[in-house]
Amino acid sequence: MLDLKMYINGEWRDSRNKEKRDVINPATGEVFAQAAEGTVEDAKEAIEVAKRTFESGAWSELPPIERASYLFKIADKIDEYHDELTKLETMDNGKPHREADGDITDAANCFRYYAGLITKPDGQTYHVADPMQAMVVREPVGVCGLIVPWNYPLLMSVWKLAPALAAGNTVVFKPSEVTPVTPTKLFEIFEEVGLPKGVANMVMGAGPTVGNEIAESHDVDMVSFTGGTKTGKHIMKAAVGNMKKISLELGGKSPNIIFADSDFETAVDWALFGIFSGSGQVCSAGSRILVEESIYDKFVDRFVERAKQINVGPGDDENTEMGPLVSEQHMEKVLSYINIGKEEGARLACGGNRITKDGLEKGYFVEPTVFVDVTPDMRIVQEEIFGPVVVIQKFKDEEDAIKLANGTDYGLAGGVFTVDGAKALRVIKKLRAGITWINTYHPTYNEAPWGGYKQSGIGRSLGTFGLEEFQEIKQININLQVEPIGWFSK
Ligand code: NAD
Repeated sequence: MLDLKMYINGEWRDSRNKEKRDVINPATGEVFAQAAEGTVEDAKEAIEVAKRTFESGAWSELPPIERASYLFKIADKIDEYHDELTKLETMDNGKPHREADGDITDAANCFRYYAGLITKPDGQTYHVADPMQAMVVREPVGVCGLIVPWNYPLLMSVWKLAPALAAGNTVVFKPSEVTPVTPTKLFEIFEEVGLPKGVANMVMGAGPTVGNEIAESHDVDMVSFTGGTKTGKHIMKAAVGNMKKISLELGGKSPNIIFADSDFETAVDWALFGIFSGSGQVCSAGSRILVEESIYDKFVDRFVERAKQINVGPGDDENTEMGPLVSEQHMEKVLSYINIGKEEGARLACGGNRITKDGLEKGYFVEPTVFVDVTPDMRIVQEEIFGPVVVIQKFKDEEDAIKLANGTDYGLAGGVFTVDGAKALRVIKKLRAGITWINTYHPTYNEAPWGGYKQSGIGRSLGTFGLEEFQEIKQININLQVEPIGWFSK
């Protein structure tokens, strides 16, 4: 049984009230770890430590090349513990090894990317009238509160921690209460590479207590949050007291548009990957497939045939192609959406049930589920289900496809499949979404900005934009002629 503690000011701690929370393997329903259940007081202490450390300059005033050297060491350690981290990620989140394996590699490379970026030129000079010289510099924001979800426990943590630390901030980080295992291992790595005490602090615990304190505290200068849109709205409200900077990566209901002239098998294959990888628990999941009417029936038949063949099982079985859902509570939510779909009159083309056979009965497994004959107003078309559930809609032409694609409150991602390059780009440019793909779905790069339009968020992770989120911008105007202005006569 793993015993997970919080990390505050370079020390491993239980929570003040000594409470623990069970951490469950979603493939077996077994408790394999217990995590300290932090309190508001624990969060306050971590914030105070982060504030004091920021003001000391011990990290923010370190030459960027030195901060970068810590980040490179962290990346190397992630590589060194790659296999252990992969196994832990699978136990905690349920994702198959091949998915966890990619996440761990990306996490190491994210640290490398920001280690490199922070030593590169930034800022600007701008031309103004003599005798003034003007320039722009970037500075750390201060104390950054980082709150992450459970679907990529390590990677979502790293998308925030790497740029926030590279920029010279100090941080108070909260993992999801459902998946604190690999984030804890990451903080062990921070300790191992000798990251100065108080720079990175981790408080575990519930969102409405610990998370809310981080979002609300006047000693936190920025809150960077990834999670559901409803929680994101709470964060915005909580952050208003001291007008802290916010960055929100929220939910989605992303369209994947398949034109009749696409390469058929390629489109089916990527569309399956778009929704069923991560068991559909991916913010950018292609959970609405829009198919041109002339190939609609053929597409549905082939898609359903392939969906039925997906090998669902525990993530540590090498034959597994799709793992369980992350928790019993989340499984119940997904199953309730399947019921909503049936009640709304959508036709279930396959799936729809919990899987309880072949030794999977204690885990939280749900069949790949496909709904057809849906209308745009249905809840299963509008709301994020965050599970292996997809709706397949029919469209008439390009204009109709764009209208349907943009017809939700979300705007995170979207894909287009066609061999007509001009049409692909025309459609992508009309999509109100921040992450888009042509003839592919899901590939994500540390170098490219990640984030949504509309209610899918504010700001961007990754790439140069992801670093700028964690920086303030300052203009400096210098008078090269040091003499009075003489504006007033006396
Ligand atoms: P969630 O919103 O329930 O929780 C996310 C985090 O917020 C957790 O750490 C939780 O403890 C904390 N939290 C909950 N209530 C809070 C409150 N009142 N104040 C402060 N913190 C609070 O989300 P989840 O169920 O963990 O994750 C799934 C969601 O995350 C989906 O909607 C998914 O689309 C989204 N997501 C978005 C992205 C993206 O990049 N846009 C990436 C991954 C996941």
